[in-house]
Amino acid sequence: MENKRKYWIFDKSQKELEKYCIISGFKKYGATQVMKWIYRRKIFDFAEMTDLSKSLRKKLANNFCAETPKIVDTKYEEDSDGYSKKYLIKLLDGETIESVLINYRNRKTLCVSSQIGCRMGCVYCETSGLGFIRNLTSGEIISQILVIENDIENKITNIVFMGMGEPLDNIVEVEKSLDIISDANFIAVAPRKITISTCGILSTLPNIENHKYKIAISLNAADNITRSKIMPINKKFPIENIVRLINNRKPSIHNKITIEYVLIKDINDHIENTKKLIKMFSPSKVKFNLIPLNKEKKSIYLKDLETSDSDTITDFKSKLFKAGFTVTIRFSKAQSVNGGCGQLKAEKIYSQ
Ligand code: SAH
Repeated sequence: MENKRKYWIFDKSQKELEKYCIISGFKKYGATQVMKWIYRRKIFDFAEMTDLSKSLRKKLANNFCAETPKIVDTKYEEDSDGYSKKYLIKLLDGETIESVLINYRNRKTLCVSSQIGCRMGCVYCETSGLGFIRNLTSGEIISQILVIENDIENKITNIVFMGMGEPLDNIVEVEKSLDIISDANFIAVAPRKITISTCGILSTLPNIENHKYKIAISLNAADNITRSKIMPINKKFPIENIVRLINNRKPSIHNKITIEYVLIKDINDHIENTKKLIKMFSPSKVKFNLIPLNKEKKSIYLKDLETSDSDTITDFKSKLFKAGFTVTIRFSKAQSVNGGCGQLKAEKIYSQ
């Protein structure tokens, strides 16, 4: 049988593989065994899965393909605290996506993409400029981790869905990928080490919340007029809905929602905005992550936008900090790789 007529094993959930094993006359547990080989040992050749019966190995090889996407380009940047490595990964259909590894102190954080392009239309985001091409499948999301763990010969410790795309606009595949990523038998990154960043699609947010993943919401404005101008999704889910949802949660230090705020000169960086933010939120429920706008030199999409001045950024931070909030500033480390989305960032805690 040709490869193209086989199922791609990385797209199969544990339940789907269990069903396959049972229907094919094997024990249900065969599914867990295969998945352990793939996700824990990174063995992709069924013939090498020696605790499976020969007949199951043969059957799997006939029905499934375990070809991994390929790294086609990388960019490496180092500083005193660690390094970031940006990967361009070619999927099996030839489309390319970006993932960024941020190796900082003891953490190896991988920023993964959930879509190719995006349909949310945020004006400050390079991915929006690409338009929407397609959703990634769960296997394509998971395989970003696999190929990069293979490349660094080490485990990823944290995952952030902050690459290309809007994860909650691809909720089915994202949730399916998370089942395998967070399963202690498989990729084994604990839910509290996984952050889903969203522009605020509040209708699907509870699916993610119930599983104890961390949530980051890109707010980027303190009033609806500004937010709707820069983030069209605000017309559907305005600021007051986000505030209500957050304020109705039980307070928990370990599970605060992160409010992401990209600072764009003269658009959303007036210091008055901090007063509104302080009024809206409570330090027990949210923390702030301020992100100086990152703009590629050649960007056409972001041509009219500028990064806020460093004094403004410091002021903005200090006002929120004095009101009792935890505030971090995210600096951009990774540079763009050919046609990259330009929004993948390295995160650094800004020391007080
Ligand atoms: N769609 C999701 C996740 C992708 S964006 C979301 O909107 O949150 C990931 C992060 O990058 C978000 O915090 C977003 O606000 C930020 N971002 C996007 N474009 C940026 C830019 N040009 N400069 C700085 N940060 C940017």
